[in-house]
Amino acid sequence: MFTFSYHRPASVDDALALAAAEDEAKYLAGGQTLLPTLKQRLASPSDLVDLGDIAEMSGIRVEEDRVVVGAMTPHADVAASAAVRAAIPALADLAGRIGDPAVRNRGTIGGSVANNDPSADYPAACLGLGATILTTVREIPAEAFFQGLFETALAPAEMITAVSFPVPLRAAYEKFPNPASRYAMAGVLVAVTPAGVRVAVTGASQAGVFRWTEAEAALDAAFAPEALVGLALPAEDMIADIHGSGAYRAHLAGVMARRAVARLLG
Ligand SMILES: Cc1cc2nc3c(=O)[nH]c(=O)nc-3n(C[C@H](O)[C@H](O)[C@H](O)COP(=O)(O)OP(=O)(O)OC[C@H]3O[C@@H](n4cnc5c(N)ncnc54)[C@H](O)[C@@H]3O)c2cc1C
Repeated sequence: MFTFSYHRPASVDDALALAAAEDEAKYLAGGQTLLPTLKQRLASPSDLVDLGDIAEMSGIRVEEDRVVVGAMTPHADVAASAAVRAAIPALADLAGRIGDPAVRNRGTIGGSVANNDPSADYPAACLGLGATILTTVREIPAEAFFQGLFETALAPAEMITAVSFPVPLRAAYEKFPNPASRYAMAGVLVAVTPAGVRVAVTGASQAGVFRWTEAEAALDAAFAPEALVGLALPAEDMIADIHGSGAYRAHLAGVMARRAVARLLG
């Protein structure tokens, strides 16, 4: 680990001021990604601005047609929330399948979304449900927020304060987890919304989370697992690593999508 200055502000304004004052400052949320990165000397921020004491950034608010999750809300709280389970059961289900209990109790939705790991679960929820990422300066639709592998629309020092999910008519998430980390080898969220079916895939593509528009059109025409038979994602665009080939992940994404639809049909 390289040396850095540690700060623990009690308000969003103080955190913003601290981050803006230093070129190489980083926000610290649950630390589940950032701390291992620091330990391996893969990052050397000058300052860590710990968001853990900012009470206004934690918690879940369910409005008439939206679920708003504060950026510092840990995955375990989303998984355990009766309000989330009532409004968007797929969101609670997805949060409950992230990593292990330690990761779920420390890791936060803001950290996960800011990190935009290509195998993370929340990006599929954001894109599949059509969420809006709320930051200290603007509201960013999920489509514009996720910009590729570990890339987002966030500007330096811009902070996520919450993620706002519209309540769908129904939704389901299916993932095939890596047996060691539980990260998605392929994870698919299928949502039925008043504007049509949305299908978001994580874990599979080299470009990170994406909407599978061919699957959406097929499901809009006939909402059944069979509607997806014959659709194929391009294997050459998928992640190929020691855990699986591109062809394997492309196949898995199709299987997960069919399972999500089957689950929605009961
Ligand atoms: C063993 C293990 C297994 C895991 N398995 C899974 C899994 O199955 N599925 C899954 O989706 N994830 C998984 N994760 C990741 C985990 O879910 C964390 O959510 C993720 O690492 C980042 O969240 P964090 O709160 O720990 O953020 P941190 O590690 O603290 O920060 C991550 C990045 O986000 C930035 N950041 C944090 N908060 C904000 C904010 N509010 N605004 C702007 N930038 C911010 C930080 O500066 C940093 O760059 C796993 C992690 C581990 C260690």
